[in-house]
Parts: sequence; C-alpha cells; structure tokens
Amino acid sequence: RGFVELDRVSKIYGNKDVKIVAVDEISFSIDKGEFVVIVGPSGAGKTTVLNILGGMDQASGGSVWVDGEDIAKYNSRQLTQYRREDIGFVFQFYNLVPNLTALENVELALQICKDPLDARQVLREVGLRERMKNFPAQLSGGEQQRVSIARALAKNPKLLLCDEPTGALDYQTGKAILKLLQDMCRERGMTVIVITHNSALTPMADKVIRIKNGTVSSMELNEKPIPVE
Ligand code: ADP
Ligand code: ADP
Repeated sequence: RGFVELDRVSKIYGNKDVKIVAVDEISFSIDKGEFVVIVGPSGAGKTTVLNILGGMDQASGGSVWVDGEDIAKYNSRQLTQYRREDIGFVFQFYNLVPNLTALENVELALQICKDPLDARQVLREVGLRERMKNFPAQLSGGEQQRVSIARALAKNPKLLLCDEPTGALDYQTGKAILKLLQDMCRERGMTVIVITHNSALTPMADKVIRIKNGTVSSMELNEKPIPVE
C-alpha cells in the first residue's frame, strides 16, 4: 500500500432530494517524500479531496490510508488529534492571526502539537530571519505565505497539504513559494501535496494527478521534475 492511498473514496453532499457528488469513488496512491500536484478545473473536487486527506472532512465512503492507518475509520476525537499532530496545512489566504507576530503565529500552532521543531529555526529556513517580530500586516503576501508554511512545517507533519498556495500571489512570488515547497520536499523528505487549477505548476511535480468530475481523469509521473529556479 502507498504511504497515502485513497481507495474508492466518495463525498456526497445534500439530502434525499438534491445530491451533489463532490468526489466519486476516487482512487490514487502517493509515496513518502513525493511532491504531488493535484490539478483540475474549478468544482472538480480538489478541495474536498484535500480536506478528506487532512481530516477536516469525512468521506461518505471508501478508505483513506495514511501511513498505515485508515483515517476514514477515525472518530472525531481521533481526527482532531490527526489534524493537530500529523498534518500541516497551507491555504491560499495564509490564515495568520493578525495580532500575533510571525514568530508568535508559528509558536501558537506548536502548542497543541506532539513533536514540534524549533520555531525560529524553521522561520530562518523559509527566509524570514529578519521578519520574525513583524505582524502579518507588515509583511508582503509572499512573506505571509512563508510564515504559514513555517507554521505548517514546524509541526513536523507527516503530510504537508497546500490548497492553491500561490493563488493570491504574483507569478514571481508564486514561483519562489513553489521552490520553497519543492526544497522542503527534497531536503526533509516531506510528502507535499499541492492542489491548483493552474497547470503551469505541473512540470515541477514528481506526480501529477488530474481530477475531473470528482475522479482521476489521468495521472503522470515526471521522471525529471523541473527544479523551480
Ligand atoms: P474544487 O476544489 O476542485 O474547486 P470542490 O472540492 O471545492 O472543488 O467542490 C466539488 C463540488 O462539491 C462542487 O460542485 C461544489 O459545489 C461541491 N461542494 C463542495 N463543498 C460543498 C458543501 N459543503 N456542500 C455542498 N456542496 C459542496
Ligand atoms: P481545534 O480543534 O483546536 O480548533 P483544529 O483541529 O481545527 O483545531 O486544527 C488543528 C490544526 O490544524 C491546527 O494546529 C492548524 O495547524 C491546522 N488548521 C486547521 N484549520 C486551520 C486554519 N483554518 N488555519 C490554520 N491552520 C488550521
């Protein structure tokens, strides 16, 4: 079994009159340390898949294996612990706490986590040595996204899940963020999953999973993923 493996996972919203099949028996597998891009049009089910993987949403059916455990069988207490300890999240709009500094934002996330890394060290690693004492409003979009990546990485998670991480950034800044994610994958052996509607990101991935209508439409392996420069 893969480090991450979805086996015929579905997510159905609605009631007996209106049914929305957001994810339709999707199956795929991801190796430990892989840099994966999930791409597809708006409404394809990408965010739903990522939320199920991150324990933020419960599948309606199927199995969700992560590091040997089927999290689809977890109860809500187990899911909360899984979200806190095993998963790092990066969002399009950073979700930083505005009245806390960069350092405090990272430290806050570490309070509920089992085996955290050093917050200052991780902030230095993402290029924010000189910005730790700044508040989010004093930082550029790219710097705010670096704080949010540091916050996720400092938890030392099993999986780093990124939902449109470059979606609010200009092209150059977005590329720098993507490079940071790719470096973290290579240097830490972290498993990184990025969802996007922007197919320009696909050449950098080890694996590209294309989603359409809630299921995999095609999958590619890049023998030589392009290093982001
Ligand atoms: P993507 O991330 O690819 O844009 P989503 O996973 O957000 O797609 O959505 C997939 C489908 O599920 C869409 O048709 C969306 O409208 C629907 N959907 C997502 N969340 C909900 C919800 N909470 N209630 C009802 N429908 C939803
Ligand atoms: P709680 O149950 O204490 O409200 P959650 O279980 O929702 O916390 O979240 C646990 C972890 O998941 C947090 O430490 C954080 O890293 C991540 N997380 C979940 N949702 C968000 C969010 N909206 N913004 C930032 N991090 C989040």
